[in-house]
Amino acid sequence: MGEPPVGTRQNRGLLNHDICFILRSPYNSCLKLNFLQRKWTDTVGGMAENVQGISCSSTLFLSSWSTCMPATVKLSLYIHFPFCLKKCLYCSFNSVAGINLPVDEYVATLIREMELCRENLGAHLSAHTLYFGGGTPSLISPELVGRIIDSAAGFFNLAADAEITIEANPGSVTRERLSAYRASGINRLSLGVQSFNDHFLQRLGRVHNSEQAVEAYVAAREAGFTNIGVDLINGLPGQTAQMWEYDLSMATDLRPEHLSVYGLTVEEGTPFAEMEKEGRLLLPGEEEAALMFEKTAQHLNNEGFEQYEIANFARQGYRSRHNQGYWLRDDYLGFGAGAHSFMKESGFGARWKNRDDLQEYSQSVKEGVLPWRERDFLSSREAMEERLFLGLRMLEGVSLEDFRSEFGVSVYEAYPRESASLLGNGLIEIRDGRLRIVEKKLIIANQIFMAFL
Ligand code: SF4
Repeated sequence: MGEPPVGTRQNRGLLNHDICFILRSPYNSCLKLNFLQRKWTDTVGGMAENVQGISCSSTLFLSSWSTCMPATVKLSLYIHFPFCLKKCLYCSFNSVAGINLPVDEYVATLIREMELCRENLGAHLSAHTLYFGGGTPSLISPELVGRIIDSAAGFFNLAADAEITIEANPGSVTRERLSAYRASGINRLSLGVQSFNDHFLQRLGRVHNSEQAVEAYVAAREAGFTNIGVDLINGLPGQTAQMWEYDLSMATDLRPEHLSVYGLTVEEGTPFAEMEKEGRLLLPGEEEAALMFEKTAQHLNNEGFEQYEIANFARQGYRSRHNQGYWLRDDYLGFGAGAHSFMKESGFGARWKNRDDLQEYSQSVKEGVLPWRERDFLSSREAMEERLFLGLRMLEGVSLEDFRSEFGVSVYEAYPRESASLLGNGLIEIRDGRLRIVEKKLIIANQIFMAFL
């Protein structure tokens, strides 16, 4: 994250970057991750391990899908690149580190997967965003990035004015490379800065330092990028609200178009989790973390950013179109090892996931079989839950009228006790026909979401 997202990509162990952007809570937990994990486990159970790509039921799924799909489906595309130069100490994302990475082979497989998907889902798809996440997608050469963009255009009618984003690690880009990305069609850069404090960057195990972060930003501007997002993490070990304000000031002094701010989460299986168990990772307390949350919104609002999602801030006209699609439950297709997809044209929608294991993923695609491993058809209740907890992440909230027309019941009918209690306690409000979290209560958004699950 995404991304979900992107050195700010904590919590992406199960989900791809993008979805984790949706799911991460403002501070220190990943509610939706657990929710989806539970659903997948419930639905697919032990069967998942034995599914070989598109199983018999997947074929049924595809054929029933194509008969009920509208003439043209507008969707987003996500490319997962699961390689990094070095594994960061907090990272649980689906990525492997090394220097002799099989990038060319992986990209060829990705393109073949896109082709297979297009063959199976039909020719009526029309993409309006493309997002390169990871891992560290800025390790892909501009030439190969261009080839992927061309393939997306060919297979999925990628719009001429599509938002095309690449996540870049400041330690892996030069001005020449950034210029070549720009020339290949990338028009949005998401720079995984995480912090402007070298002490914290070292503690996180990042490959870059603060000077490189600033250099990469300046190089991106010189390369012609007019839409740059900076990703930051707060709640770092030993960090105070005052130290966090320094990071915010450094970031806004650069004048990016977009900022994503996530709280560090400690994920099982990471070196940080070990350190925490051994008492070697002292994270800021709740009060300090709350202060950081408060200062973030204050500082960024003063600097002209609109907070449009719990963790995302943009200058006018520069919201991430791609990530907004997740929160709005728009369709997207993910490609690459461990990537996730969601299409809602089949009933209330289906989510599925590619194989995580690189070899299994590649083998499946080589055999001409889509590498889908887990698939979950949502019930109307599950779709309602998603509509609310994803939509409420956005500050403009959920349209009550749209909810009723989508599900045939109002939010009050679907959640009588929950909505009465949240409204009564001043945690949510209705403004202009939209249900939203009261701004001062965004910090406890997770508790609010829980009411709807
Ligand atoms: S290891 Fe790679 S994917 Fe994980 S946080 Fe670091 S740069 Fe991002």
